[in-house]
Amino acid sequence: MNIEYPARELLANLPTPLQALDRISETFSYPYNGPRIWVKRDDLTESAMSGNKLRKLEFIIAEAKAQGCDTLITCGGEQSNHCRATALAAAKAGLQAHVLLRASRNSDAGALTPDGNLLVDYLAGARVSLYPLKEYLSRLPTLFEEWRAHYLQQGRKALCIPTGGSDGLGIWGYIAGAEEVIADCRGQGFEPEYLVCATGSGGTQSGLSLGCQLLGVSTQVTGYAVCDDEAYFLRKVAQDVADWEARYPNAVVDGFTFDTQRVAVIDDYIGPGYAMATEEIYQSIALLAQQEGLLLDPVYTGKAFHGLLNEIKRGRYRDCKNLVFVHTGGQFGIFPQRAGFKSSWAEK
Ligand SMILES: *Cc1c(COP(=O)(O)O)cnc(C)c1O
Repeated sequence: MNIEYPARELLANLPTPLQALDRISETFSYPYNGPRIWVKRDDLTESAMSGNKLRKLEFIIAEAKAQGCDTLITCGGEQSNHCRATALAAAKAGLQAHVLLRASRNSDAGALTPDGNLLVDYLAGARVSLYPLKEYLSRLPTLFEEWRAHYLQQGRKALCIPTGGSDGLGIWGYIAGAEEVIADCRGQGFEPEYLVCATGSGGTQSGLSLGCQLLGVSTQVTGYAVCDDEAYFLRKVAQDVADWEARYPNAVVDGFTFDTQRVAVIDDYIGPGYAMATEEIYQSIALLAQQEGLLLDPVYTGKAFHGLLNEIKRGRYRDCKNLVFVHTGGQFGIFPQRAGFKSSWAEK
């Protein structure tokens, strides 16, 4: 299908590599009959602005410039990868970034020594506003409006970017990403039965699902939830795609309808909650580091990959030959959770 892409700011090093994980695939081939697992290295989009958010930001920043904006306001958790990528991408594009962060429960926002992504937000010159959990949850739309008005008063113009950059604009990143990964697979002589990713604000999954349907491939996109449940993500994907259809009625010709029935979410591996992992998840991260030299993170990719390995054990992918795990990045999130990896280093 001919897809009419909007303007794009080139920020990522594309295409990212597609690599076979043969050692881990071998480990799970017997007795589980697991597939050949491939990894799409979207953690390598750019070393500092690494991860999936940069694909979305290519379209978001192009839109910001087209609207004459000089500021980007966005939001997320204290260790938000999306906010960090936005802070750096804004710096590169000559825009100001302002990140509205949900202070983590156990940090005293005032006395905090910034670590991981938060440290990088400051390094990149972003304006950082930390809000207590309660205020963040109850006032987020108002906070966006207040700050937008604040900048307007100063004669500046801000673009507000929703959580994770996930909406009808941001999902262009993974419509293009789906096109890229399917082309990579064809280059290797196969069409994957499954594309698997961590799903958090839903946009990556929305883009991949929509992209695969636009391409007309039968590849099943499965999101492994890291926070909310299946019903939430089914709704969110439908909402992102509807927003995309409304904003870009001419993006595709010849009557296309998105089939929401094909959207698949597995919500059995969230663990105790968003950004909270379990010993098993930390161990799966260590396993991938040891067997493949591949670094996953405890908030998104480690949870999703742990879930994937467990589902392979349970026989879900018994009849699948090739499965692609989209590595969405997040490695800066390892360090603030160093204590969780204690069994890897404590007795060494
Ligand atoms: C944000 C993020 C995700 C989830 O992507 P969404 O588009 O928000 O669902 C997955 N992995 C990493 C590392 C992320 O930062």
